[in-house]
Amino acid sequence: MRPKQEPLKFAITSKGDATSNTLMQKMKTYLVDFGLEYDEDEPDLVISVGGDGTLLYAFHRYCQRLDKTAFVGVHTGHLGFYADWVPEEIEKLVIAIAKTPYQIVEYPLLEVIVRYISGGQEARYLALNECTVKSLTGTLVMDVEIKGDLFETFRGDGLCISTPTGSTAYNKALGGAILHPSLEAIQLAEMASINNRVFRTIGSPLVLPAHHTCILKPVNQVDFQISIDHLSLLHKDVKLIQCRVADEKIRFARFRPFPFWKRVRDSFIAD
Ligand code: NAP
Ligand code: MN
Repeated sequence: MRPKQEPLKFAITSKGDATSNTLMQKMKTYLVDFGLEYDEDEPDLVISVGGDGTLLYAFHRYCQRLDKTAFVGVHTGHLGFYADWVPEEIEKLVIAIAKTPYQIVEYPLLEVIVRYISGGQEARYLALNECTVKSLTGTLVMDVEIKGDLFETFRGDGLCISTPTGSTAYNKALGGAILHPSLEAIQLAEMASINNRVFRTIGSPLVLPAHHTCILKPVNQVDFQISIDHLSLLHKDVKLIQCRVADEKIRFARFRPFPFWKRVRDSFIAD
């Protein structure tokens, strides 16, 4: 917890549309009036105003200081799976931020390391939702290793490795399970695998516990389209892609209970 005498430092990330920007300005003014300090570089609390995409953006902007930053989301339309608050509740939220020492809940993240054939600098990423791997040309072919052993050779459109909170995003569209975020796990889901007499994959999504590292190794092609949440990049001369539960976690500031299964129900069944 922060020392009492120091004012809480906050930042606000907006989706950029007129509604979100207006809300951002409003919240900023209110919170500064309450004696909080606006600090875009080293915030204790990051308020995301928009949707899940906005929260993903905010997460990546501050992902170098996750141990010192908590996130809270306000949604202005769209789904807002990560965003607990609606614009009509802004005053309530501002008062909660200003007055109460808030609760923190921590959720697991996915660590992705890409190593290159040249042996040069590896790339390391943290994903809040997922990492996807696709081929640039035709079928993706990759060996899937789990905990050091070859598990299968995958052939198909691509692979998706998601976090528990990301399990309701792309993973869900692939028929993956929804994982409660108290589970320190990652899920590997297939995108349209080729299955016949010649080629075989497991076909079911796999849930891996922490420390069961999954390594994807190229079989033929070595260039891949790799996405980390909303960011998609072309990686050339890839030697391997390593995925595991990250040591880091994302911290959400909670000002009222919002159980995960209620969040899932509100997002996908009815609210
Ligand atoms: P986007 O195309 O606007 O996002 C697609 C939808 O996913 C939006 O409705 C978004 O909510 C929602 N979403 C994001 N994270 C979620 C989560 N953890 N649980 C439930 N729904 C979630 O792009 P974006 O906003 O930049 O989000 C990037 C994400 O889109 C990726 O991480 C991936 O999971 C997802 N995606 C899904 C598919 C698919 O389902 N076939 C394909 C590509 C990407 P908001 O409207 O509140 O932003
Ligand atoms: Mn979006």
